[in-house]
Amino acid sequence: MDYSTRIEIESLARELRGKAGVTRVPVEVDILDRYCEVTREEYSFSNHPSVAEKLLRLARDAAKKGSLFLEKVIGFYFAEDRRVILNLDAGEKVRRWGHAHELGHAVLDHASQGVYCVSQFDLLRDVSSSVILAAEEEREANFFAARLLLPEKEWARSVQEEVSLSIEGKRIGELFGVSVSVALRELVSRSRVPRCLIALPRKRGHRPVAVGGITRSDKWAELFTPAAEARLQTELLYLGEIGMPRLFNVSLGKKGTARIQTDLVYEGGCFLVVCEINAFKSNGES
Ligand SMILES: [Zn+2]
Repeated sequence: MDYSTRIEIESLARELRGKAGVTRVPVEVDILDRYCEVTREEYSFSNHPSVAEKLLRLARDAAKKGSLFLEKVIGFYFAEDRRVILNLDAGEKVRRWGHAHELGHAVLDHASQGVYCVSQFDLLRDVSSSVILAAEEEREANFFAARLLLPEKEWARSVQEEVSLSIEGKRIGELFGVSVSVALRELVSRSRVPRCLIALPRKRGHRPVAVGGITRSDKWAELFTPAAEARLQTELLYLGEIGMPRLFNVSLGKKGTARIQTDLVYEGGCFLVVCEINAFKSNGES
């Protein structure tokens, strides 16, 4: 997503709040449907398994992808009739995010896929479950949701950069009515300092097998090559096993060595690891 797309999406989110007269946080997502010309249906997917399975089948066909898990699905968006369907089983904060994400598809007139599906795995990723065909559209919908629910002005007023991220994540989540995962994701991606958030998607006490979502600040992306990030992720898999914060060194190739400090949060079946640079040693130059 380039800079001008971001600016455009941010102003669409602002316009939408303006049209609906929303001036406070948590943003009332439920009143925004008609300004986006969408209709909304809500079900408890666990109470209506056959309806939910059918929706999921449509989404799987649209995404040409089998790995969508019903229990993790927050909602769907049907482009043709601009219809949003939400899962009442998802917690309120999670559902608000899913709702805002689907409104994003509508406002941005996404239609490359007939059916879009957002799941809890997508809260932390820059891409969604329907990645293969529509990764860019998913990034845009996530960006829209973030700018809709966590408006720039309120954000600048309320966020404290120097506070521990695990504490700040909870506070920001409450304030804006989003889950801790989303709050952390935004704290990291909007940060002016090098920060990175990595999800280890395993149950507590189990050995993590893979790294899930990863979100970076721009400064972090400048410093870390893919190789350096891969070394860091290997360290983090071990961290997920022992389940406690720690410090370690990661080589940044020619640039030097970074001492990484981690902060750990457990939410929604995931360890969320926030990585920050505690100290940096350059390789001679300077
Ligand atoms: Zn989506």
